[in-house]
Amino acid sequence: MAVQVLKDKCKGCTKCVKSCPFEAITMEGRLAVIGTACTGCGQCVEVCPFGAIEKTEEESSAKDLSAYHGVWVFAEQRDGKLMQVAIELLGEGKKLAEAVGCELCAVLCGSNVDGLADELFEYGADKVYYADAPELAHYTTDGYTKTIYEAISQYKPEIVLLGATHIGRDLGPCLAVKCNTGLTADCTKLEIDPETKGIKQTRPAFGGNLMATIVCPNHRPQMSTVRPGVMEKAQRVPGRKGELIRLNVSFKEGDIRTKILEVVKSAKEMVSLTDAEVIVSGGMGLGKPEGFELLKQLADKFHGTIASSRAAVDAGWIDHAYQVGQTGTTVKPKIYFACGISGAIQHVAGMQNSGLIVAINTNENAPIFDIADIGIVGDLYKVIPAIMEEMDKLPEK
Ligand code: FAD
Ligand code: SF4
Ligand code: SF4
Repeated sequence: MAVQVLKDKCKGCTKCVKSCPFEAITMEGRLAVIGTACTGCGQCVEVCPFGAIEKTEEESSAKDLSAYHGVWVFAEQRDGKLMQVAIELLGEGKKLAEAVGCELCAVLCGSNVDGLADELFEYGADKVYYADAPELAHYTTDGYTKTIYEAISQYKPEIVLLGATHIGRDLGPCLAVKCNTGLTADCTKLEIDPETKGIKQTRPAFGGNLMATIVCPNHRPQMSTVRPGVMEKAQRVPGRKGELIRLNVSFKEGDIRTKILEVVKSAKEMVSLTDAEVIVSGGMGLGKPEGFELLKQLADKFHGTIASSRAAVDAGWIDHAYQVGQTGTTVKPKIYFACGISGAIQHVAGMQNSGLIVAINTNENAPIFDIADIGIVGDLYKVIPAIMEEMDKLPEK
């Protein structure tokens, strides 16, 4: 929805200027002019005493929604390896595609990564749109946006899902702006409205204190970034086949404004919380940064990894890459140890779907015990060594 000023009716009273919450209206002489900041909220329409502002349908809206078909998943890969979140999106995309009654497709960009298409078919993609070019070997905002935007314009998917990774969070908004559509970032739940067949996108809002469900009724594609580690991974069906569609990709001078000189992997990037089967997480109850050394000993026994609450990160005890929660990573390990973590809603949002939650806390009323499968009231510096001692008594496997 947009609005326009009817020149012959506007009397220049300026009432609409004051009414606009987005400061989108200016006066040119005695004529109100709607600027690009207009969100189409319609408030000014009601305010004008002369009926000089009316609502209009935007060109791209409602009328051609029916031209859009299929659920697309951005198959993010790095160094020729599919990111886990891409497999999670295929799992979720399958459910959405079944509810809509359409195909599940993946869009893959890279250089010489044809082999990944077979993997995507095995994980449930009916079609893979594949853009192969040396310029796409490493992610660049311009290169990937141009390629995928052109594919969206040509094939018109109705839903596009991306992982809320660093790349997805960069690419998603750029694509949404170019497609003149909306984007719901950081979704934790997606479902299809049985009546409209549109997607309902749910994400935490107001510091995680409420969940907001967002729809995109008038524009296509409907786009979401989805938190890694939240959705169930797709089941792999070896030998499953699909249709490979090669996209025409060409770049001219200036299309890609950044140049990758070198890719340097920092230690931070190597922390893979989403892949870990056992996580031993620590919070302020550790009392000091050195407490993580004890957690590491327990994690090593399970071949797992350590993690932390945000308070421990804010205290400078550990890097943000280890943070679990709403503003950190969402994890779903088989076992999650919460050691000296109170269980604030923002932390719980990132680990509540773990298989088995073991909480160790001195305060028997700590909220973490509400979601723990095993709750141990006690000092972690006594409880963890006791657990390790018992483990050492077990026969070697
Ligand atoms: P505390 O709340 O201080 O809890 C420490 C716990 O340790 C207590 O329960 C105490 O009883 C226990 N304890 C003390 N000594 C011992 C001992 N010796 N042995 C065992 N137990 C002991 N938090 C996150 O974790 N992740 C997020 O992503 C996140 N995002 C946020 C986003 C927003 C917008 C906001 C507002 C907050 C966010 N937070 C997040 C912060 C969150 O609200 C909490 O402040 C934080 O999780 C608390 O960390 P904690 O449990 O380590 O510390
Ligand atoms: Fe013109 Fe109506 Fe705005 Fe007054 S309120 S300036 S008449 S558009
Ligand atoms: Fe401002 Fe809303 Fe009117 Fe647009 S529709 S000019 S945003 S009041």
